[in-house]
This record gives sequence, C-alpha cells and structure tokens, in this order.
Amino acid sequence: MSRATQLAEIQNRITAACHKAGRPGSAVKLLAVSKTFPLSDILEFYSCGQTAFGENYLQEALDKITQLADHPNAQTMNANLEWHFIGPIQSNKTKPIAENFSWVHSVDRLKIAQRLSDQRPENLPPLNVLVQINTSGEDSKSGLSPALAIDLCHQIHGMKNMALRGLMTIPSNTDNTDQLKSEFLECKSVFDSLNSNGLSLDTLSMGMSADLELAIECGSSCVRVGSALFGARDYSK
Ligand SMILES: *Cc1c(COP(=O)(O)O)cnc(C)c1O
Repeated sequence: MSRATQLAEIQNRITAACHKAGRPGSAVKLLAVSKTFPLSDILEFYSCGQTAFGENYLQEALDKITQLADHPNAQTMNANLEWHFIGPIQSNKTKPIAENFSWVHSVDRLKIAQRLSDQRPENLPPLNVLVQINTSGEDSKSGLSPALAIDLCHQIHGMKNMALRGLMTIPSNTDNTDQLKSEFLECKSVFDSLNSNGLSLDTLSMGMSADLELAIECGSSCVRVGSALFGARDYSK
C-alpha cells in the first residue's frame, strides 16, 4: 500500500469516528508516531501532507532532526514540521526537548515542567504542553492520578514560555473495551473540569492505532498513530 493510501485510510477512520460521535471531522488531529522508523519514512508521509510527528526516544529523535538539517528543503520543512515528544522524560534531558520540540505530551512532574519552562529558548514560541494523566490506577505507568494532574496543570498555567494545552493519557494495556472506555471518559471529565475552572485547554491526546475510534467517541482531539501508519515496529534493530 502506498503512503498516501495508508494516510488516507487513517484519516478516513478518524473522520468516520468523528461523524459517528456527532463531531466535525476536523475536530481530531492526527499525530504520526514515528519512533523506530527512519527519517526517510517520515519524509514520505510529509510529502503526502502529514506534518505532525511524535517521537518517544530523545536520542533517536535528535538524530532524525539533525539529519533533516542536511536536506535541501530543510528550511521549508522545519517551518512546516511539528515535532511532538511523547515519551518518558528524564530531568537531565529537558534542555534538548525544550530546544527541539514544539509539543511535549508527557509532562508528569513539576520539576520537569519548571526546567522545560526555564530552558525554552526565548526566540521560540511557547512550548505546547500536555500533562500526562494515568487513569488506569497501575503504579508502573507514567502519568499522574487525576487529582495530582489537576494540581500540576494549575502550576504550569502561567509558567513562562509554556502554553498548557491539555492532557494526554495511555490507558491500560487491555482489549477490554469497557475498561478502556471508562479510562478515556475519566480523562475527558478531568479535562472538562479543568476548563470549567478557568483553564482554556483545547487538546486531549488519547487513542492509538487499535483504539482511536473509541478514544474519539470519548472526546479525544488528538490521536497518536504509529503501527497503523508505519507498519509493525522492530525493536531489535
Ligand atoms: C508508540 C506509541 C504510540 C503509537 O502506538 P501504535 O499502537 O503503534 O499506534 C502512541 N502513543 C505513545 C505514547 C506511544 O509510545
């Protein structure tokens, strides 16, 4: 299947899910998750019109960003491309994140937020930030409980160089639709309550290749799609 067809298939899934939920097709943004895939694959999707790409591993992402700088069209592409950091963040790695990404989905500690704010270069627009919430109750996962996520959102709101845009969640690793749905809905309800408490959040990042329809039904405004676009990941390379 061509890249253009793969992309159109995902966009059709998104539009169909939006319509089923009574939402406009433009209500949900597609983030293409390119981890483990080379820059050449990213550029193929870019030439089909995809501009937002998500990366989990900092060094891998920086390698791709550096390679891109050598491309003849680098300037135009850099102006159009949007890099999203969606992986766990170590506090000694915040500076390159603040310097190279326009979005971060995985903020779950005040210390990390403060460092990102301090290290965001003044000549760049504010860093778009999502607080990662964990509604699964599993201790092993990244992300904050709803109560702590609410506190952190209020702390980030008003930090300099930061634009708090919303919440991100990775639900339990389960096929149980009822369980997933209740986690997505809990995230949506935290999002709504933050908005009724004076924050103007517009981004709820939830849903991946396997569950994007359910996430959209539950109010997602950004789906993070990896394998359904790029193919199966091979971590052994
Ligand atoms: C890898 C990853 C995705 C994409 O998952 P797929 O199932 O391949 O679509 C989305 N979000 C995060 C945080 C990821 O790490």
